[in-house]
Amino acid sequence: MNHMIAYDDVLLVPQYSDIRSRSEIDIASNLGKGVDLCLPILASPMDTVSESAMANAMSISGGAAIIHRYNTIAEQVKHVGKVEAPAVVGVAIGITGDYMERAAACLEAGATFLCVDVAHGHHIMMREALRQLRKSFGQRVHLMAGNVATLEGINDLADWGADSVRCNIGGGSICSTRIQTGHGLPGLQTIIECAKTDRDVKIIADGGIKNSGDMVKALAAGADAVMVGSLLAGSTETPGEVFYDRDGHRWKTYRGMASKEAQIDWRGKYSSFEGVASRVTHQGPVGKILDDLEKGIRSGFSYSGARTLTELQAKAVFVEQTTSGLSESGAHIRSRER
Ligand code: IMP
Repeated sequence: MNHMIAYDDVLLVPQYSDIRSRSEIDIASNLGKGVDLCLPILASPMDTVSESAMANAMSISGGAAIIHRYNTIAEQVKHVGKVEAPAVVGVAIGITGDYMERAAACLEAGATFLCVDVAHGHHIMMREALRQLRKSFGQRVHLMAGNVATLEGINDLADWGADSVRCNIGGGSICSTRIQTGHGLPGLQTIIECAKTDRDVKIIADGGIKNSGDMVKALAAGADAVMVGSLLAGSTETPGEVFYDRDGHRWKTYRGMASKEAQIDWRGKYSSFEGVASRVTHQGPVGKILDDLEKGIRSGFSYSGARTLTELQAKAVFVEQTTSGLSESGAHIRSRER
């Protein structure tokens, strides 16, 4: 059995840097066909994360959101219509039912790219959907697809027509896929495996990213952008109201799209469930959250002496850390006031 690495298992070795200011660092990433990101962060296509408000805010910060598909075509189109030009905005579609009409309507309404959004993307129905989408929309539209966990997976999706692939199965904060099904691969290992691809395809590190340090690790391991849900879920721009608990603490709901709760809401019943519903602290405007993440990413590039993503990937050196290394890595001040 192979040794498999999760985000917390490794650190990047600090390296000599001649970068005098973080403003010299360019963290932009061009995913191709109009998906040009100044900040390589994508907001997940989930009904507690991405609708028009998130899409507008992500765009202002240089990233992009993918408007979720748990709605009618008319509702999704309405969200796309509320996104102010010239934002980069994605729309999620499935691989059955109305997905072709959904894709056509959202592109017509101004969506920049399509995201074929399936839990287990390395699948015959993904192949059929990608072929159908390419046949109808030609080469000009950026097709994101996923999720996959293996090199074979990313290669196949690229061969079937994907321009970018969401990589990681079972690593999301609200995900229970590995518990329910016993399947998955540690998140960072997935990126390391997928980065071995020789295809012309971009890698999206999706799920399980807890902080800007994980983002830097994912990018250094070969990702072209990261996709996050929980890190943004407490912001004002997510769908859903702020609610208070008895102590007056402010919360927002965050739930997996394969949770019982989400399935019941969007199709009245649930089958196998591979996610959980939870709540996260309300944190205010997403722009502030993204600003802090961006600062962490820039600082991370600087510690590797890298001015660009290409340089980061060339220079990065990973080392493994032990569990005592991990506890040393977190803040661990012992208060003297007890
Ligand atoms: P997070 O950033 O760790 O919260 O993970 C967000 C990612 O989890 C999304 O982009 C999806 O890839 C994935 N995801 C969303 N809903 C579910 C679910 O119900 N089960 C498993 N994975 C999910």
